[in-house]
Amino acid sequence: MGILIKNGILITLGEKNRVIENGAVLIEGNKIKDFGTSDEFKKPTNAEEIDASGKIIMPGFICTHHHLYSTFSRGMRTPKKPARNFLEILEKIWWRLDRTLTAEDIYYSSLIPLIESIKKGTTTIFDHHESQSYQVGSLNEIQKAVREMGIRACLCLGTSDRYGKGKDGLEENARFLKKIKNEKDKGLATGMVGLHASFTVSDETLDRSVEIAQKYNCGIHLHVAEDKSDEDDSLRKYALRIVERLEKHGALGQKSIAVHCVNIDERERDILRETKTNVVHNPESNMNNAVGCADVPGMMRKGILIGLGTDGMSSDMLSQMRAACLILRHTARDLKVGFSEAAKMLLENNPEIGERVNGFKIGRIERNYLADIILLDYFPPTEINEDNFLGHLAFGMVNSVVDTTICNGKILMRNKKLIGIDEERITQKSRELARKLWERLDY
Ligand SMILES: [Zn+2]
Repeated sequence: MGILIKNGILITLGEKNRVIENGAVLIEGNKIKDFGTSDEFKKPTNAEEIDASGKIIMPGFICTHHHLYSTFSRGMRTPKKPARNFLEILEKIWWRLDRTLTAEDIYYSSLIPLIESIKKGTTTIFDHHESQSYQVGSLNEIQKAVREMGIRACLCLGTSDRYGKGKDGLEENARFLKKIKNEKDKGLATGMVGLHASFTVSDETLDRSVEIAQKYNCGIHLHVAEDKSDEDDSLRKYALRIVERLEKHGALGQKSIAVHCVNIDERERDILRETKTNVVHNPESNMNNAVGCADVPGMMRKGILIGLGTDGMSSDMLSQMRAACLILRHTARDLKVGFSEAAKMLLENNPEIGERVNGFKIGRIERNYLADIILLDYFPPTEINEDNFLGHLAFGMVNSVVDTTICNGKILMRNKKLIGIDEERITQKSRELARKLWERLDY
């Protein structure tokens, strides 16, 4: 028994995006079996039917950089002396949080943004975890949450030598990659090797990470030049810019993800292109941390594959896309910049990164692609077609409510109701744990 979605406006995306009014999609198992107009699917089947009248049918969104562990920072008391720069934001907020998390905190911190992902139509995330207080075993907690919520997720632990704990981080990445390699029931979880950032990682830890990544044929996921201080540190300690240092140690390549790249120079951009390393832009986070804006148009012109992430700010990829459009245009002071770059990052490049890094066939309504599909409430007030679809997406659908979310052929939310997920109980427990964690924080 499959699922037949009918009577909606179907947006296929992919190399040749098609907008099919009165469209239909047939799902069988975890894949898309067929699609077309609803008239082509009139013959009775034993598939469960979903009526998508008044809705858009499109592929689920992908977030190529997230931090599920950031949940308990929401509403957390700010330090007496507010952070004055990027390093102080890390020291006073994020590192304080991540050296206090327990196993149960990690599990519940993960559930909340995964629920938000379902509600916002985000069906695949690339998570970058950090918990210096509980590293070995931490990815199991996230995997458990991912399995229960039904989202596709690529996990890693951001190893760093903070507090001398790089060894534990390496152990956890290697342990998790080995575990899922041999696991029959791994759910939808895959893995990478995580590193925090150049300035918190020694050469020895960097080399060991590369060895683990090579052993498990995966890439490295790390923050690169988010703030200028990261570049200054690399130049001071190694007489190399960050991307040069990463290249020297073999950490780059088409399975690796370099997040941010706000402060890199031309030579570093050349290396990213030559090594086919993926870059991920996180506009809301960059604005929130006041670190500047990456040269997305320049990197695209060079041929670097650059995707879009939220950096833990939210799980809403449409609002992130609009933020990207606005910051790029504002920074360039050029009306031609922003719109197409933002849409390309979300709709074309994120699926390509998913395929490069994990071999996922996602982000399109196409036969044999994975059945990650969402329905959005939307009555187009003007004509909608292949040529103007992006205008509807950025200025109309961005404010639409997601009605139904399907991941890997399984319905996770229907008629705006989560299936088999007790959100009230989970958020209540999350509030209890967050209160206890806030009490333990060393202010
Ligand atoms: Zn990040």
